[in-house]
This record gives sequence, structure tokens and C-alpha cells, in this order.
Amino acid sequence: MEILVLIAIAIGILVAFFSLFHRHRMQALKSRLEDAYWRESMEDQSLISQLQNTVKELSEENRELSNLLIFLPSFIKQLNLDLYGRKISQILCKIIEHIFNPKQILIFFSSKDRQMLILTAAKGLIKEVNLGYKVAVGEGRIGLVAQKKMTMSDDDFQTQTSLVKKLLQKTSLPFFTSELCAPMISGEETLGVISIGGLTNHFKNEKMILKMIADLGSVAITNTRIFRQREYLANFDGLTRLFNRRYAMFLMGDEIIRAEKRGSPISVCIFDIDNFKHYNESHGHLAGDEVLSTIGQIIRETIREDDIAVRYGGEEFLFILPNTPEKGAYILAERVRENVEKFTFPQEESQPLGKITVSGGIATYPMDGSDSYRLIQEADKRMHQAKQAGRNRIVSGSLIKEKLEKSFAPSPDEKDEPTKPT
Ligand code: GH3
Ligand code: MG
Ligand code: MG
Repeated sequence: MEILVLIAIAIGILVAFFSLFHRHRMQALKSRLEDAYWRESMEDQSLISQLQNTVKELSEENRELSNLLIFLPSFIKQLNLDLYGRKISQILCKIIEHIFNPKQILIFFSSKDRQMLILTAAKGLIKEVNLGYKVAVGEGRIGLVAQKKMTMSDDDFQTQTSLVKKLLQKTSLPFFTSELCAPMISGEETLGVISIGGLTNHFKNEKMILKMIADLGSVAITNTRIFRQREYLANFDGLTRLFNRRYAMFLMGDEIIRAEKRGSPISVCIFDIDNFKHYNESHGHLAGDEVLSTIGQIIRETIREDDIAVRYGGEEFLFILPNTPEKGAYILAERVRENVEKFTFPQEESQPLGKITVSGGIATYPMDGSDSYRLIQEADKRMHQAKQAGRNRIVSGSLIKEKLEKSFAPSPDEKDEPTKPT
């Protein structure tokens, strides 16, 4: 975040410098005007009016730049506070609006594969174009700026080689007026493009000013990425790529409060790998780690989007299943158990059951417990019952696999998708 502050200071210094520079030029011009006034020749009269115009223009520009210096810190603060980067494009739009007051502003962010630019904020769009509009890198003026990683003005676009000009004509973007375009860059990567058209306020250094705004944008995007990365590292387990226990406990508290308010159930499920000590002792801890990582992947591929899967301990996993009654949790847990059983792990034949398998226990809120501690304790107790009953099975309060099949006989849809309460 400090980088953003540094850039803000740098911009402040530059703006102050321009401001001072203009003030000096205006002083110089004023004294020349006075000189000319005293000489009073015809030639001088024309010089006077020329210089008066220039003074007017410079005063105007100086006023705008001073204005920029006043409001910029508050925008920088907003960018700094936006840790998840949800408002970066809107904040950039506001800064540009303040400085250039253009008829059209377009903020594009690069797609994950960096092949496309996606419109994330705009002003002055025609109704045929919506946010989310995509421009390919290399397409039209906006795509060219993304490709060349250079800030370009109308004049720059006009003075391209005839080959580039032809390409620009061929791929022109008729909905957009791109008089001034700046890329948001981080190292070698283009993070996005800012395009503006129909400027009401013009500045001598407008290219540089837009580039500075684009730099603010790229630093803000990079900061949110670092924040998300740190958050991921703090909350996820590196080996299984599932949530870690600390973060899961925090999420579970939230889920229980939500369930209480809605009067909906939550199920938890604890899994433990069967005879894992045996596998480690036979094939080494690295091979054991591979198994853990694969089971993490099987779990991620099996659970639903709203389910929370956690590496709870060394070789223990916890699922927190919001909005899920016992039956739904059982179906999901069975599916995970089956998928682990079906998967061919290296050298698993030497395991006591001839395969790598898992055992699980389920508990459901509110009937098995009203807080996370009791629910997990109950699920753990049932997981140990599953071990005692021979491993490679799931135990819940009222259901075991055979019973479930007889009493519920799920419809074909339910077989594919664990049930959710209506
Ligand atoms: P059970 O079927 O009763 O669960 O038998 P088990 O051998 O799996 O017994 P237990 O659950 O007590 O075993 C825990 C073992 O899991 C101990 C350790 O060897 C292994 N383990 C725990 N964490 C890790 C890990 O991060 N990597 C590896 N490779 N092994 C781990
Ligand atoms: Mg264990
Ligand atoms: Mg075990």
C-alpha cells in the first residue's frame, strides 16, 4: 500500500511543479505585457493580445491543476481502502471525470488469460454497449494500447505506420471515442486500459496526467492481488488447497448464526483416512503427502459451491455444509467416500483394506448440537464408530448406507445432487 502513497506524493510533487512552473511563466508573460504596453506599437498591440490569451489559458490550466492537487489525496485514500479492488474502476472514473470532464470514459481490465479487455466502468456509453463488453488485445485503438503498453493520444494514432493504421481501420471500435488511451501495466503485464474521448478540459501534459492516473490504477490492482494472495495463504492449507482449521472455525460461527436466523439446518462431516500410518510407514511421508493432496482434489471436485471443505488436522477433513439436512450430508459424504475408494492411489494394494479409503461421521444442527464445538464432537464420535464398524463407511445420527437406500430411495436427480432444503 505504501507504493500508492509514494505515487500520490510523486503526483502531488509533479502537479505542484507544473503549478509553480505555470506561475513563473505567467509572471514572465505579465512583465513582457507591461513592457509591450509602454512601447505601444501596432506590432506590440498584436503581441499583447497574443500574450493575454496565453496568460488566460495558463491561468485556467493552473486552476485545474491546483484543483487536482486538492482532491487527489481523497481518491488515493479510497483506492487504498478498497482491499478487494471492487471499486478501483469506479474510483478511476471519478478521478478522470474531475480532471478532464470527458464525454466518454472507458475503464477496461484484462481477462485472466490476458487475451481480452473487459469493460468494468464507463461514462457516456451508447445503449448497444454494456459493462462486460470485450475488446481483444490488438483490436482498435484500445487493443493497440494494451499491446504496445504505451500511452497514446489522437496524434500518436494518426502517426502510426501505414500497416498499423490499416489494422486500426479494420478493427475500429465504432462505439468508442478514444482520443487518449493509457495502459495499466505491472512489469511486463498489461492489467487494463483507460480510454477517454471528448475532453472538455485540455492540458499541455494531458498524456502524462492520464498515464499517472493509469499508474495509480495499476498499483491499486497489484495491491489487491497481493492482499488476496496473503489472505489465501493465511486461510488455506497449501497441501490440500482446502480451508485451514482456524479460518473454518471463523466461517462456521457465521454459518451457525445464519442458520439460526433462517431456521435452516447445517451439517458437518468429519473424515479421517483409514490406516494412514500404515501407508506412511510403508511408502514414506512424501508418498503420504501425495495421497493427502489427491484427496484434497477429490473433495474439491465433489463438493458443491456453497460447501466449505477444511483440512481439519493431519489427515482429517471437515465439511461444513450450509442449508443441508442429515440426508443431503449423508449423500455428499458417501459420494466423497466412494470417489476416494474408486481412485487408484500408487501402491495402495499394500493397505490393510487393499485400498486407500476414508471413514466419516456426520452431525446436523440443530438436532445434534447448537454450537460448532458440540457438532464437531458429535461428528468425530460417529467417525470413530465408523472406524470400529470396519472403516470405509459413513455414520450419521439416524442413517447408515443400507438404511438410507431402503428408506429414502432417492430420485435420479437426488442421486446426482445432494438435497438442499426448499
Ligand atoms: P485409522 O484408520 O484408525 O485412522 O488409522 P491411522 O493409521 O490413519 O491412524 P491415525 O488417524 O491416528 O493416523 C494419523 C497418521 O496420519 C499419523 C501420521 O503418520 C499421518 N499424518 C498426519 N498428518 C500427516 C501429513 O501431513 N503428511 C503425512 N504424510 N502423514 C500425515
Ligand atoms: Mg487421524
Ligand atoms: Mg486415520
